[in-house]
Amino acid sequence: MFTKFWPKVRPFDKPIVVVGGGAGGLELVTKLGRYFKGSAQKVILIDQNRKHVWKPLLHEVAAGSLDADIDGVDYLSHASKNSFTFLLGQVDDLNQDLKQVSIQQLNDLKGKKVVGETRVAYSILVFALGSVTNDFGTKGLKENCIFLDTCENAEQFHTDLLNAFLRIQTNPNISKLNIAIIGGGATGVELAAELVKTSELLISYGYDHVSQKRLNINLVEASNRILGPLPEHVANSALAELKILGINVHVNTVVTEVTNSYLQTKDGAQMESQLTVWAAGIKAPNFLQGIGGLESAKNNQLVVNTFLQTTEDENIFAIGDCAACITPKGIKVPPRAQSAHQMADNALLNIIAISLKKPLKEYEYIDYGSIVSLSSYTSVGNLMGSMNKRTMFIEGRLARIVYIALYRMHQVALFGFFKTFLIMLVGRLNRTLRPNLKLH
Ligand SMILES: Cc1cc2nc3c(=O)[nH]c(=O)nc-3n(C[C@H](O)[C@H](O)[C@H](O)COP(=O)(O)OP(=O)(O)OC[C@H]3O[C@@H](n4cnc5c(N)ncnc54)[C@H](O)[C@@H]3O)c2cc1C
Repeated sequence: MFTKFWPKVRPFDKPIVVVGGGAGGLELVTKLGRYFKGSAQKVILIDQNRKHVWKPLLHEVAAGSLDADIDGVDYLSHASKNSFTFLLGQVDDLNQDLKQVSIQQLNDLKGKKVVGETRVAYSILVFALGSVTNDFGTKGLKENCIFLDTCENAEQFHTDLLNAFLRIQTNPNISKLNIAIIGGGATGVELAAELVKTSELLISYGYDHVSQKRLNINLVEASNRILGPLPEHVANSALAELKILGINVHVNTVVTEVTNSYLQTKDGAQMESQLTVWAAGIKAPNFLQGIGGLESAKNNQLVVNTFLQTTEDENIFAIGDCAACITPKGIKVPPRAQSAHQMADNALLNIIAISLKKPLKEYEYIDYGSIVSLSSYTSVGNLMGSMNKRTMFIEGRLARIVYIALYRMHQVALFGFFKTFLIMLVGRLNRTLRPNLKLH
């Protein structure tokens, strides 16, 4: 990092506060903590959860191929190792004049107060809150669908899934388990493939009444093809693979209502579903709309300039899914893990530059391509050539390696190379020591 050639650290008078310890926020706060280590500068992370699970892996938590208790990062211990402070709680407001963010009162599951409402002062504030599912006001969604917004959502789906499989294992009168995934983007496609893998593993663990014939997975997409943002040949390749796995893909199908037993579509059809996942569209959290007088877009994202500072306040940054950013080349930054990773690095440089009164660096999004993982069966995607900007189609093992590399980059940002290597080693050992599926 070229900041090591800059003069000695110069702290701000109040803390640097990062709200949201996800793909972008946790990398940023870790690097800020390390940079300001030993100085008077306080660095604070506020997150509503106690542990971090990299969001692109949530479909694996849902299917049970990843155990969040093993792969999750505890914020408190990570903070102590990287010289920042962790505060547990949900931020819900901002006072720009007093330069304070508010954290809601924290209650336990029985509603008993744990920590009262808190205000945290900042010199520099970074919103890295990510996104939540956009239900577009569709009838019955909140009551009857599972969203993959948080690790808790994914774990809840996993429990429901195990119960559903147990039902068909023990009750011969149930002819089929119908699962519907609404949204044919990367999340929906990846989850569908993971569910087939889950059923195969359960059969291998002795669920002899579970079979592919009794599993009916419907992937429902409103537009005319799956994987809309990806090139058509990548989508076609994924579609062919989904068909081999026995997944029914319905395009041009708009869901208008979800009940606890079926989906109603716009053309009047009904599709049976006992387990329904909604993965069709995202927005930034509602409370960001106009928060503290900041400019926000229609989908609640905070509008930022090319330095990632909010347009109304240069001391407040927004990165990742919750930022509406148009780069100097006019590219609208997509809500992806690679964007959050790049924005975290850019915000780091700019926060340090402000402290040292140096010029800021504009953020330019670099698209390295996209990979879709179809569980351990295969992966497909496209890579961007760095020189000629042409895309290269990749699939199979190579695509899988590139897919995993994005997660490894995140781990390297958090733990460094050596610890990431050890984590990989433990992961390999666990594959022989532990079941390949989380069964509880
Ligand atoms: C199932 C799934 C698969 C995906 N696969 C891919 C993929 O293959 N490739 C890819 O590039 N992208 C993928 N994405 C998208 C990617 O996960 C996001 O773009 C990325 O995580 C955004 O990072 P972020 O830092 O903006 O937010 P997040 O990683 O979502 O982190 C937000 C953090 O903010 C915290 N938070 C939220 N609200 C509050 C609050 N009010 N107070 C305190 N804390 C709060 C949350 O607890 C969370 O820790 C996938 C997403 C999903 C759901």
